Amino acid sequence: MEKQQEAARPASKGPKRQRRPRRKHNKSSANASGADTPTAEKTSNGELWSIKDFKVAEVEGKVRFHDMNLPDRVMRAIQTMGFEYCSEIQAATLPATLQGYDLIGQAQTGTGKTAAFLIAMISDFLDYPTDGDRANNFPRGLIIAPTRELALQIADEAEKLTKYTNLNVVSLVGGMNYEKQRQQLETEYVDLIVATPGRLLDFARSKKVMLNKVECVVLDEADRMLSMGFIPDVKSIIRMTPHKERRQTMLFSATFPKDIQALARQWTFHPKEVSVVPKETTNKNIDQVIYTVSNNQKWPILKKLIEENGSQRTIIFANRRDETRDLHEKLKKANINCAMLSGEVSQDKRVKTLAKFKDGSIQVLVATDVAGRGIHVDNIELVVNYALPDDPEDYVHRIGRTGRGGEMGKSVSFATEDDSFMIPEIEATIGTSIRCEYVRDQD
Ligand code: AMP
Repeated sequence: MEKQQEAARPASKGPKRQRRPRRKHNKSSANASGADTPTAEKTSNGELWSIKDFKVAEVEGKVRFHDMNLPDRVMRAIQTMGFEYCSEIQAATLPATLQGYDLIGQAQTGTGKTAAFLIAMISDFLDYPTDGDRANNFPRGLIIAPTRELALQIADEAEKLTKYTNLNVVSLVGGMNYEKQRQQLETEYVDLIVATPGRLLDFARSKKVMLNKVECVVLDEADRMLSMGFIPDVKSIIRMTPHKERRQTMLFSATFPKDIQALARQWTFHPKEVSVVPKETTNKNIDQVIYTVSNNQKWPILKKLIEENGSQRTIIFANRRDETRDLHEKLKKANINCAMLSGEVSQDKRVKTLAKFKDGSIQVLVATDVAGRGIHVDNIELVVNYALPDDPEDYVHRIGRTGRGGEMGKSVSFATEDDSFMIPEIEATIGTSIRCEYVRDQD
């Protein structure tokens, strides 16, 4: 990606977008003068919350949220969520995005990119409330994600970060109750919309949601939107929002193929560019092994693995829906507490399943790549690739479900003579070789 420095902004390149000056929030000097503005809600002991209730030590090499000059109400949510220090992508992007700069960010799931763009957007909306004459269905912020799961997870994080504010988050995602979403648009004030492209376009074309007052647009997982064929829809949506010089645009993508580079340039205005490439340590937390097996060895080995794993949370990835269905049936018959997450399962059911997996009432999840993408569940101990994926990037996504947040994880992949040719490509993608174990028939 071509770097663009603010200092190098050519004067002839049209008007510079009016950036809003940041308000001063609880800098330590402000605390000293008592200029703190406690949030309206009380803490459990009945006192008004103030930033003094959120203490995080200064540590060399780490960036605190306290150093970002964020509104108290956002800081309080950050404390409730248990965050202390900024992740790399947050530390690298917030100083620019909080000033209203556009952003092209290279970052994958797991880096904290969601909070990075949400904190910037929410802080701006709190600093600059609208004057009140806005109709319900004119959102200020728009976040577009390729899959329903990802959109709902973003909405969940947005709910948490707006917990102590009056900002209202609405998700408009395909496959879920259209009527309920329509009613929300009619009856509630909508500040942030989190949406998948198709459903949003339906609502925007029928003028049930109006995008011409949007102040900030986030495009998440742009490369996935491209591979899933959503770019024409996204283009139509973007055209309904204010001109790029009058909105803030943040685009995130794990990879930047030429098409995404071109769109990123087209949609952003003098963007800052930030890249957080996953460190090798991400993979070091995952003990990866490939079992070279014959097809009829897979099921008995899998069953043994799960039984040996006790109650550990496990995701099994299969390549096709019918494979997912078969496996789910077999697991159920073996009395293993499991559920299925694939395209043929209704959206409502998928959301419920995911919630049960999160709270531990389901131990094993059988998923396809699309359904499994962007699942943010901590403490998944084991990922099983029942078959190697066709795309090495999917291998990275799959095993990335485990070994998160510094925890150790394990991935077991089955390779048969049909798919072991994928191994070198996968190893090249992850930049390391994977331990292979040959399983003899009598095992
Ligand atoms: P994401 O990359 O946005 O999917 O975030 C991955 C996970 O990291 C989510 O569960 C977030 O809630 C969590 N997270 C994001 N930022 C931080 C932070 N600064 N400290 C701790 N956890 C975080």
